[in-house]
Amino acid sequence: MLTLKDNLLIFTDLDGSLLDHDSYSWQAAQPWLDRLSAARLPLIIASSKTAAEIAILQQRLGLSAFPFIAENGAQIVFPPGWRHPARIFGADYAAIVNALHHLHASFAFRGFADADDATVAQWCGFTPQEARLARQRAGSEPLCWLDDQQQLAHFRHALAQQRLTLTRGGRFYHVMGRGVSKGRAARWLTRHYQLRHQRVFTTLALGDGPNDLPLLQSADYAVLIRALRSEPLSLPATRRGRLYRSRQTGPAGWSEGLDHFLLPGKARRIAHE
Ligand SMILES: [Mg+2]
Repeated sequence: MLTLKDNLLIFTDLDGSLLDHDSYSWQAAQPWLDRLSAARLPLIIASSKTAAEIAILQQRLGLSAFPFIAENGAQIVFPPGWRHPARIFGADYAAIVNALHHLHASFAFRGFADADDATVAQWCGFTPQEARLARQRAGSEPLCWLDDQQQLAHFRHALAQQRLTLTRGGRFYHVMGRGVSKGRAARWLTRHYQLRHQRVFTTLALGDGPNDLPLLQSADYAVLIRALRSEPLSLPATRRGRLYRSRQTGPAGWSEGLDHFLLPGKARRIAHE
């Protein structure tokens, strides 16, 4: 059993995990946010959002004292007090946009770099201000695929030749450096914490989507939060850590997961209700 006194690093996805998928509310998670804050435990956001988008949410959540992982693991941003420059994994944004520029002649697609704030706002249902934050990118490019599936296979191959990879997000495909994932960034950050504090940390990760699986797989303890509108996900049976699947979605499922690992008595009571 884990306790709040352990050397614990907690990594969390935002949308559909700590934040409600639709309303962005974290009300159900507030009691746990308060407890983790009182115990001074690092709660590290790991999201597909950009650093500019996360920084605003991180402040509202009261988590600005901690680093965070942006763009699905392409970037780690440190708090100002750490005096540590942001770290990019894989190719940087200029290299990705440059590689995509050359592929426009052979494939039909449109990325955020090919559109203005107003167009991205329309694609995403954002305000122009939100679109501006979503377009400040460091190491990944979302794109709308306008070609057929056969061309998509050729596109993947062309990207692979440039050490780039394509992943499927909710609405967009994302181009990023090969090997980039939330899990890889979380492992790097855990090692960084261990060197900085000269002690071993136990890791707990919470997420609800396919892009969270590498994160959950890399953690000692993992909470797979029930997704609102998709098929249940599966983790390899070979994963070394412990896994809990929440029954509730969003921040209620997020809290349920922390109840399970950090308040086992309470989790048993809920299971028997
Ligand atoms: Mg999510």
